[in-house]
Amino acid sequence: MTAQPALTVRDLTVAYREQPVLWDIDLTVPEGTLMAVVGPNGAGKTTLIKAVLGLIDAAAGEVRMFGQAYDEVRDRVGYVPQRGSVDWDFPTSALDVVMMGLYGRLGWFRRPGERERERARRALDRVGMLAFADRQISQLSGGQQQRVFLARALVQEADLYFMDEPLQGVDATTERTVIELLRELQQDGTTMLVVHHDLQTIEEYFDAVMLLNVRCVAAGRLEEVFTEDNIQRTYRGKTAPQEE
Ligand code: ADP
Repeated sequence: MTAQPALTVRDLTVAYREQPVLWDIDLTVPEGTLMAVVGPNGAGKTTLIKAVLGLIDAAAGEVRMFGQAYDEVRDRVGYVPQRGSVDWDFPTSALDVVMMGLYGRLGWFRRPGERERERARRALDRVGMLAFADRQISQLSGGQQQRVFLARALVQEADLYFMDEPLQGVDATTERTVIELLRELQQDGTTMLVVHHDLQTIEEYFDAVMLLNVRCVAAGRLEEVFTEDNIQRTYRGKTAPQEE
């Protein structure tokens, strides 16, 4: 444990073809926070996660995780991309997908062995998918695929997770499983930023929220920032940077 926040973002600006999609974002997330990232379609939620992880270039800004550059703490950081961004027809089993989460740790030359397989099985068990370990991923339902995807991140045992809409389009059982898992992780001190689309469940599921619409309208603990006024400011339409 360190006194440093799990995540600090300063003055982050991202543009696609000169059009800013994130403008001057400041964000501090203390360790052990379960934070929802919300905002209308096109608000920049996915872009924020990708920019923070260095998957797309930022025009400006600084990102620190546990007080260090991402490259120095990669082992402690996990990412669950949107389910739709993956080719689920790829011929591989649920267990193999989870094992892929371990490759970063193993290095290029070591082949995964029984120990890794056991870890992957445990992760599948935690998301209620052990019985499907050998099933081809193309033959799983959307909710089951999402749970396998989560297990792939879980097996990394990261301290900070970025999850892009893990509850998008999932069934009720999966939703409950995922939320229980996030709470368990939080109890172990894990920090999570979770893109979420349903304003109705924010208060039940999360303890902090970032309201995003190109700019960060507000971010912090629910009781401080999840106000009617802030929600309206976030969903009123895109705030172009020049419209101060
Ligand atoms: P959200 O996740 O909040 O729905 P995104 O981060 O996906 O929003 O997108 C933010 C804005 O950036 C949108 O206006 C989107 O059209 C635009 N955008 C996203 N990806 C690209 C890209 N690769 N090239 C150009 N524009 C993009």
